[in-house]
Amino acid sequence: MTTIIDGKQVAASVIDAVKAAARNLEQEAGVKTGLAVVIVGDDPASHAYVSSKSRMAKECGFASIQHTLPEETTQEELAALVQTLNADETVHGILVQLPLPKHLNSEPIIQSILPEKDVDGLHVVNAGKLATGDLDGGLISCTPAGSMVLVRGVHGEDLSGLNAVVIGRSNLFGKPMGALLLNANATVTMAHSRTKDLAAVCRNADILVAAVGRPQMVKADWVKPGATVIDVGINRVPAPDKGEGKSRLVGDVAYEECAKIAGAITPVPGGVGPMTIAMLMANTAIAAYRKSGRKAPKF
Ligand code: NAP
Repeated sequence: MTTIIDGKQVAASVIDAVKAAARNLEQEAGVKTGLAVVIVGDDPASHAYVSSKSRMAKECGFASIQHTLPEETTQEELAALVQTLNADETVHGILVQLPLPKHLNSEPIIQSILPEKDVDGLHVVNAGKLATGDLDGGLISCTPAGSMVLVRGVHGEDLSGLNAVVIGRSNLFGKPMGALLLNANATVTMAHSRTKDLAAVCRNADILVAAVGRPQMVKADWVKPGATVIDVGINRVPAPDKGEGKSRLVGDVAYEECAKIAGAITPVPGGVGPMTIAMLMANTAIAAYRKSGRKAPKF
């Protein structure tokens, strides 16, 4: 029997833990956890993401501040807002929604966020802490952190003796995911577009993580029988069966066929997706605990 990993349910339990943590911090230390979300421009998808993040922050009991800046915002104006938020003691987490409009350079903006407020885990200090195995000192990129919660749900904390393959080597996902798996004692292979015979590499994986951005690329004969398959991809493809011009979301894994071979698998949607926002809330709670000098809970 294949286990279908229910990301919505796991994310909901993370959110419950975050709510409890935020309540405790407020009761014990009088500190209200604060998240500032910054969005520039009019991209509808980014606005939808930001609204759901702001809504979830409120649901968690955070002080949630949204800064909506016009498309024509300059690099200097955005940098100045980040500095203001860095200096604001009531703000524990800062998130600048990406992508930024084309005329803005995101990298210096992200790197100007104080690492202890970088709840997206994209600052080089946070990436460096993860790469050096300091998991309790920094903030971890939300999607890999959430994927790791799902992996732990199947295999527990210690992945000793297990082979893990991560397809994709982005700074946002692949690299931090590889570091997390390695830290949990898995034997990790990082695969990418230059990997030779990817199918054979994947067939060796007890834990196979796909973050590529290619619809249904991973086929059943790439999956080792009984493997855990974590599908990070979010791809919109045409779905003429649903009506003219309609589309549907699919992952990087051919779900139907791989589910027959895997021991556990995440669906798309409803797998990794809901974990990202939950871990953003968890990171914000962790940042607020640390700022108040208290030991941060583990989510
Ligand atoms: P990315 O920066 O575009 O990286 C894609 C990676 O896939 C690259 O390392 C690339 O290799 C590799 N790749 C491309 N074609 C390949 C092929 N034919 N065979 C093997 N590897 C190949 O993407 P990302 O930001 O990591 O995101 C990946 C996917 O995850 C996307 O679908 C994205 O939407 C999704 N995502 C989901 C969430 C979520 O919340 N669920 C969050 C983040 C991302 P090279 O380095 O060699 O080019």
